[in-house]
Amino acid sequence: GNRMRLDKFLSKATELSRKESKKILHAGEVTVNEQVIKDPGVHVDIVNDDVQWAGEPLSVATGNRYILLHKPEGFECTLKAKEYPIVTDLIAVPELGSLRIAGRLDVDTTGALLISDDGGWLHRVTSPKHEHAKVYELTLADAMDSDAQANAIKEVAEGILLEGDHEETKPATLEFIDETHARLTLEQGKYHQVKRMMGYFGNRVVELHRASVGHITLDGLEKGDSRFLTPEEVVKF
Ligand code: URA
Repeated sequence: GNRMRLDKFLSKATELSRKESKKILHAGEVTVNEQVIKDPGVHVDIVNDDVQWAGEPLSVATGNRYILLHKPEGFECTLKAKEYPIVTDLIAVPELGSLRIAGRLDVDTTGALLISDDGGWLHRVTSPKHEHAKVYELTLADAMDSDAQANAIKEVAEGILLEGDHEETKPATLEFIDETHARLTLEQGKYHQVKRMMGYFGNRVVELHRASVGHITLDGLEKGDSRFLTPEEVVKF
């Protein structure tokens, strides 16, 4: 809810402890909607009430959490562990249960994973309508010569019909680094899409890494580490 005890509000909005918060209340230094309030047990609306300490407005972060994780291999993108530990085990924030994953990665896939408790935002990140490019770096089991590469690049750019699907994949960009290493940029995220697309060419992905999602790149974030997105990064989606 939006209501919180005043002493708790003060300790969240400042660096004061609960005890120190009670002191400034008793000293008459705190106003709620321009009225001096001394009772620490008064509940305030953390969004709509105007709480000030010595004339300075205070606020507590009410917002959602937006996290970038560099997913290591061996972790599942599920909410409950089945065979493997789950990615939220790697994140040290409270209320892990409210977090959801935008665009899952397979157990053996590494790379950029966005995690949040903001449902609308998660939807914007993953919805194909918004066309956020995801860049995958992949290693192939079998070398592809220049003819095979040229053919794959062309087919991927046009869209291919994957087994069991009714619609072709959206146009995507495939680039080869050498005969077994490629970069694939997708604006959609079907189940196992990268592996299935390479399977279409009779090949197999042996290593898969997501380098970026939209404007978010891993940019030096170590495998297994996570960080909060900045407000600018959040609103860009
Ligand atoms: N495509 C896949 O096949 N696997 C992933 O983890 C992500 C995209």
